[in-house]
Amino acid sequence: MQYHIVTLFPEWFSSPLHTALFAKAEQTGIVGVDFYNPRDYTRNKHNKVDDSPYGGGPGMVLAVQPILDAIRAIPQKGRLIALTPAGEPLTQKLAEELSKEEHLTLICGRYEGFDERLYELLPIRRISVGEAVLNGGEVAALALIEATARLQDGYMGKNESGTEESYAQNLLEYPHFTRPENFMDLEVPEVLQKGNHKEIGSWRREQSLAMTYRYRPDLLAKAQLSEQDRMFLKTIHKRSFAKNIHIALVHHPVLLKNNTAGTSSVTNLDIHDISRIACTYGISSLQIVTPVQDQKVLVEELITHWTQGDGAKTNPDRAKALALAHLAGNLEEACQNVERISGIRPILIGTSAKAEKDKKGREKRLAVPFPQVAELAKENCLLLVFGTSHGLAPEALEQCGCLLPPLRYMGEYNHLPVRSACAIILDRLLGDCN
Ligand code: SAM
Repeated sequence: MQYHIVTLFPEWFSSPLHTALFAKAEQTGIVGVDFYNPRDYTRNKHNKVDDSPYGGGPGMVLAVQPILDAIRAIPQKGRLIALTPAGEPLTQKLAEELSKEEHLTLICGRYEGFDERLYELLPIRRISVGEAVLNGGEVAALALIEATARLQDGYMGKNESGTEESYAQNLLEYPHFTRPENFMDLEVPEVLQKGNHKEIGSWRREQSLAMTYRYRPDLLAKAQLSEQDRMFLKTIHKRSFAKNIHIALVHHPVLLKNNTAGTSSVTNLDIHDISRIACTYGISSLQIVTPVQDQKVLVEELITHWTQGDGAKTNPDRAKALALAHLAGNLEEACQNVERISGIRPILIGTSAKAEKDKKGREKRLAVPFPQVAELAKENCLLLVFGTSHGLAPEALEQCGCLLPPLRYMGEYNHLPVRSACAIILDRLLGDCN
């Protein structure tokens, strides 16, 4: 693999690329590096490579011409890569893909980065090495070089040492130990000392799953998991903060067809399905909010039938779900119910298919992103408020401390049934891989 590095600071690379395995690989011809400095390709008196940004703002921008000419001077460029925080992430999969190339051209930015027209003039792939802004692309290029060079045949001692590593199967690697057996009273795990390869294999798989669950649960969604893996994850999974969440299903005040505030009827299906959804996600209670007396009677009868009556006998599973359902005359009463159950007054989190608007049609407040609401649930009691009919009326939304973003807000149509919205929202807050 030959790396062509376009950089204003070639000296940055002198130590890392002349040390350890990379230096050896260079001597044996497995890898090679050459440098192209845009300053050598300037066409102005002072060899200036940057200029101030159009539209104003702090910092300088790298001008197109010197970079373009530096790249053009490379005889065999291979794929062109710009190191930029505004790029796709460098992953093991991408490193494997790039390691198969014979040439790679790595373009290092500085200051505020490149003039955007560079990307229009050349087919450049933008790659970022992490969600942090570095001062320049050199360290990012070095990271990409390390990740791809070590995958070249003959670079590492054993070629197979890459196959079990972190990310190879969308899992983080298991922990390692070496001599001594006991260090400051810390023992090497017994299973590793005994040397039974089958047992060591299962232990390592479980450790790898546990590490991934703890530090990168998002990866588990991409990993191929066996039934045994899933059983193991079940034993370590803690739904610690789902119990801090309650749901209110509001039938008043809600928006009716003509966009006026009014009251909707309770529906058997919503009560059954939302109870089951709540139970699946480990939610503490479902508050069914209606001020209408005969509707209250209906709900009471329904809950009693399924939790204590014939329904409970024929379907104990449903009894467990319906046991989460409670009646409330209004949102305040729902809060009091929650306070009785949890001992804490809940924060009301509103949901809506549209952004909240004021009387003049202006957006009222910014919705709080799902991960932030999930964080909030770790330390607080939350009541997620769902509206039936055409959604919560403004007076109900105003009682909420904050709002969740609408689901599918980029689509044309997003009028979801309330029970579907409820399931999707809970999965975003508490799903398997969160
Ligand atoms: N204004 C840029 C932005 O906010 O996206 C940041 C410019 S940064 C100070 C200067 C240069 O460092 C970038 O042009 C890029 O080459 C490099 N750089 C910084 N962070 C990086 C990252 N996470 N991954 C890859 N390159 C990075």
